[in-house]
Formats: sequence, structure tokens, C-alpha cells
Amino acid sequence: MTTGVYAALGAAACAGLAAGGYQYASLWPGSRIFGEALTAPSRPGELALTFDDGPNRHWTPRLLDTLASHDVQATFFLLGNRAEAQPELVRRIAAAGHLIGNHTWDHPNLSRSSARRIREELARTSATLEQITGAPVRFFRPPFGARRPAAFRIAREMGLIPVLWNAMTSDWSEPSADRIAQQLGAKIDRARERGRAANIVLHDGGHRDPNANREQSVTAAQMLIERYKATCKFVKLDAWADDVAALPTQA
Ligand SMILES: [Zn+2]
Repeated sequence: MTTGVYAALGAAACAGLAAGGYQYASLWPGSRIFGEALTAPSRPGELALTFDDGPNRHWTPRLLDTLASHDVQATFFLLGNRAEAQPELVRRIAAAGHLIGNHTWDHPNLSRSSARRIREELARTSATLEQITGAPVRFFRPPFGARRPAAFRIAREMGLIPVLWNAMTSDWSEPSADRIAQQLGAKIDRARERGRAANIVLHDGGHRDPNANREQSVTAAQMLIERYKATCKFVKLDAWADDVAALPTQA
């Protein structure tokens, strides 16, 4: 994404808010108006690779092999229904030392969900993940980045830290791994210039298609690791625990 497009999006976001654009604001990842979430702390040079919408029977194992070959650990925001269907794969992710987070049971838009539905989505997913891995789940990423005050408040009441991002591209629809890596690289470099860490989103799964082809996303992850391994530090989100502790306890 070029700077021009960025500026245009920023202007559009402001216009949307000025016009009372509730929906636009709730879908805008840079927005903080609906409560605090972990985005990227002031730790330039730290990169958190995060993977959403898995586990994916075919591509998650390939991704795990890639990460292992570079001795890099990452964070996986899993869908509860996919985890339940593939508990062995979830255990493999955990056994490799990666961090597992909650991405809801079946990927609803939480800005359109009732409080009861939000609670059920989060509770059922955490319970399933904890039962499979034996480890507590601390982090939660809302599907589509969509949120409203209730979603963040409920998550925090349940002991979950809401997580957004500052480096994402449409890796599910881009024409090539090169392009995905190039676009994310520009955002990673920009974050570093601004004195921030990079919280990078890629998708090893697809919330609509459990067998979605994620070859390009996995290849792009490898390219980013090769590009930044010598100069940056790859971390899991729990490395930013001090920054999480600094967030207010109420959204
Ligand atoms: Zn998702």
C-alpha cells in the first residue's frame, strides 16, 4: 500500500467518524475509541508473526516446518471449531513452543453480535484450546478487527487481552508471495522508523474454507523471516507482557 493510499484511508476514517460512522470506526484497526488493545509497543526491531484462522490441515504443518527450520516462534489465533476438529495439529503447534490465542469459535463479526453470543464464542473457544493443550489462553484477536465496547469489555472480564495489529495486507487474495512480503515489509519498516514493534498478520487458514490454499502466506512468512532475521528479533506476543500490564484493566 502506498503512502498516498494510506493517507486517503486515514482521511476516510476521519470523515467516517465525523459523520458518525460507527461501523467504519469499529472496523478500523488503528482506532482506539472503543477501548485499549495490544497493537505494537515501543520496541523497534521486535517482530511478532501472528497467524489467523487456522489450524489448516495442509498449510499449518508446512508453516510449522518453516518456522522450525529458522528457529522462529510465532502466535497462532485459532478458530475453536477448527481446533476441535484437529486436536493433534493444535498440540503440535503448542509442542513447538508457539503461543496459541483465541480467534472465536466460528469467526462472527462481533460488532453485530449480542453480548451473550460474544461470551459463548470466547468461552467455548478458550475451553476447547485449554483442554487440548493444557495451557491457559491469554490473548484474543477479534475477527475482522471488528469490535465494540462490549466485545473488549467482555474479553477483558474473561481474562483475555484483545490484540489488533499494525502490519497486515490482504494475503488471502494477493497475486503472489513476493507482493505480500513486499507490502508487509514496507509496514514493518515504517513501524520501526516510528519506534514501534511490528505486529504482523498472516493467514494459515481461511474462515470460510477450512482447506483454503495458503501457500503464498506461508512462503511470504519465510521471505520475511529471511529478510529480517539478521537485524530484528522475532517474538511471541507474550514477550510484550509488560506492555500488556500497562493497559487499563477496563476497556
Ligand atoms: Zn480471522
